[in-house]
Amino acid sequence: MKLKSKLVLNVGGMFSGKSTELQRQGERHELRGHSVLYVKPSMDNRYSENEIVTHNGNKVHAVSVDTQKPDELLFITRIMQTQVICIDEIQFFDLNMIEAIDGLLKLGKRIYCSGLDLDFEGKPFEITALLMAKSDEVNKLHAVCDNCGHDAWVTPRKTGEKEQVKLGEKENYYPLCRTCFYEEQYQGFWGFEKE
Ligand SMILES: [Zn+2]
Repeated sequence: MKLKSKLVLNVGGMFSGKSTELQRQGERHELRGHSVLYVKPSMDNRYSENEIVTHNGNKVHAVSVDTQKPDELLFITRIMQTQVICIDEIQFFDLNMIEAIDGLLKLGKRIYCSGLDLDFEGKPFEITALLMAKSDEVNKLHAVCDNCGHDAWVTPRKTGEKEQVKLGEKENYYPLCRTCFYEEQYQGFWGFEKE
């Protein structure tokens, strides 16, 4: 079966299974005999330089691309022979990544991206928002709210640091639904206490 170019986005908060979904999508293409290339940002070395590792420990080999020079993607030696490209942690890349992705789509590639839609304050990551608008399909994934067990919407920080990009894990971030997030954020403002 010949592949048609298509852009699919998996977005959501941390711990929502975005990397797991990306691997599942890649594996389904491998089962069909398609060539798959996994890509990750080079600044993301939490677990491994050359692998994408999900929270449950599954890993696949991945090529690292500099977050500031995303057009490196177009110069990966085997990119032209690759039919399917799976990009993880898309929110970390410079906006030029959008042009690189457009170029690959014009060459007929199938592209899957996983990434955070919102930062720790509930503000959209620009690159994710723009790619969501351009994509053929968007999968919104949800972790479970730490507080009430409903679908999580955002992943606030446990500490007070303010920069938008900060790597972290369970010790730094926690998933919250919209209601619990608003209650936490505006508790002082509205003057109500959580029950
Ligand atoms: Zn909640």
